[in-house]
Amino acid sequence: MSTIKGWAANAAGQPLALTTFDVGALGAEEVEVAVDYCGICHSDLSMIHNEWGNARYPFIPGHEVIGRVTALGAQAKGLSIGQRVGIGWTAESCMHCCQCLSGDQNLCASSVATIGGHHGGFADKVRAHWAWAVPLPEDIDLTSAGPLLCGGITVLKPFLAYDIKPTARVGVVGIGGLGHMAVKFAAGWGCEVTAFTSTAAKADEARSFGAHHVVASRDAAAIKAIAGSLDLLLVTVNVPMDWSALLNTLAPKGRMHVVGAVLEPIPVPAFSLIGRQREVSGSPTGSPVDIARMLDFAARHDIRPQVEMFPMSKVNEALAHLEAGKARYRIVLEAGS
Ligand SMILES: [Zn+2]
Ligand SMILES: [Zn+2]
Repeated sequence: MSTIKGWAANAAGQPLALTTFDVGALGAEEVEVAVDYCGICHSDLSMIHNEWGNARYPFIPGHEVIGRVTALGAQAKGLSIGQRVGIGWTAESCMHCCQCLSGDQNLCASSVATIGGHHGGFADKVRAHWAWAVPLPEDIDLTSAGPLLCGGITVLKPFLAYDIKPTARVGVVGIGGLGHMAVKFAAGWGCEVTAFTSTAAKADEARSFGAHHVVASRDAAAIKAIAGSLDLLLVTVNVPMDWSALLNTLAPKGRMHVVGAVLEPIPVPAFSLIGRQREVSGSPTGSPVDIARMLDFAARHDIRPQVEMFPMSKVNEALAHLEAGKARYRIVLEAGS
């Protein structure tokens, strides 16, 4: 019998408790990965508190895993024992549906989230389908790479999906866990970057991440002053905003793309879309190939999430730090500590 020991959520809102689970034999297409680092994402908190209504307890949170392959199922392909890999939001997809065969495995209707009916990375080990254990580039910084696996691919995916050009003007709404990575990726991509933040104290930091301009996101006059200028507006916040004003920052054919889990519906006036042929869209993470490309790009441009380190044993303190809005800007747990 094979076991996984990790920090488990047993019911909504309870502190995580160190628990050992019997996970049975490794599946033929699975790999087992020893966890070295695991980032904490806001989605871990949302699942621990069952904010989306789909948590299945008990489960071990954590879906930004950096680790080493320690066991390979009989049918696992392309990986070797000891290889450094990353595992993000998705642990499995069916690999035979239209989406999977088209290379959009992240859109597979029967995919399994790493923390949805599956044990995640706040643990000694984690399992995934071989395709979702993505090899890491040699020169990537292992301590800070975890948050790239979920947050990083989430903010880079629209650049890949919509073929955003380096000549584009890109706005990023919210300079937090997702947004600070979005600014770094957009700047690395070559774009002119405008950061929108409600926290004046983050303006200099946003510039240090690569933003060319900073706009106060609650300052209607400042937002109006850049009306019609942005080709892509990436929304990373999870709170309501002045959506009409933000839509009006878009240039003709501009796109507002939502990756923050705003629970309240976003009103979209038809005329703000029609007159200038604007679009509104959203997307979840990316395929294994997208993730591999993102990791290569991050390594080449030395794009590192700004992280605070906590020992894995202090996971509850780390979650409280995130919940209090104090994380600057992502938290990474170090295993074996
Ligand atoms: Zn996440
Ligand atoms: Zn599928």
